[in-house]
Amino acid sequence: MKLTFLGTGTSMGVPVAGGFGNEHPSGDARDIRWRTSAWVQTDETSILIDAGPEFRLQSLRSGMRRIDLLLITHEHTDHIAGLDDLRPFNYVQKQTIPVVTTPSCRSSIIRRFEYMFGPDKTPGSVNIDIKTSSQPFQFNDCTITPLPVMHGTLEVYGYRINNLSYVTDANYISDETLSLIKGSSVLVLNALRWEPDHPTHFTVPQAVALAERIGIPEVYFVHMNSEVRHAAIQEKLPPHIKLAFDQQVVNIP
Ligand SMILES: [Zn+2]
Ligand SMILES: [Zn+2]
Repeated sequence: MKLTFLGTGTSMGVPVAGGFGNEHPSGDARDIRWRTSAWVQTDETSILIDAGPEFRLQSLRSGMRRIDLLLITHEHTDHIAGLDDLRPFNYVQKQTIPVVTTPSCRSSIIRRFEYMFGPDKTPGSVNIDIKTSSQPFQFNDCTITPLPVMHGTLEVYGYRINNLSYVTDANYISDETLSLIKGSSVLVLNALRWEPDHPTHFTVPQAVALAERIGIPEVYFVHMNSEVRHAAIQEKLPPHIKLAFDQQVVNIP
């Protein structure tokens, strides 16, 4: 199984528009981060996790040709703004793309993209079928388990796909969800900034402490802001915990 990081940046991307934050390039390509999204491929299956504002560019950059399943973590714009760009995949695959997400995200998508749904659906608009079950399910050669986690007061889903656990936009993971993650060979976890604490995201030190507590052998951080300079922060981390970077490919044992 192969994981491609399509983007590893926080909601505003890195660098940030308009001069907010650390907009000066470090010269390190790993410090340019599009919005957080990932692509998981097995022999039989192509799974997209989230479709943010750069989805079209990310799909072109990574050579994506097919999407069998879309897993959406939650309704914030940096995770769903690219939904409209699923259209060409519908056209080529000649089928509706199944989607799994939380109940509140499903409602939010139907409200915000109302032209894609119902009797007045715009002809040619995206065909997606959104399911909201939190139960584990089998999809081709993938066993997929939604991982409910808290993002401030909003419940969002991470997903375990076989031996990969992927959690973005969280600042609290219950013991029950930790037990679903345990035994994974790779964990992806959000880590917004070095400090101070944030109301809806783990900081880097919090994510390190959690990763060490769960004891997953290989951990990658995503959803990082412009102050997290790859080289300087990576140096401070244990060797099995890595800052992910855009277009990085990881093989999942
Ligand atoms: Zn986000
Ligand atoms: Zn969010």
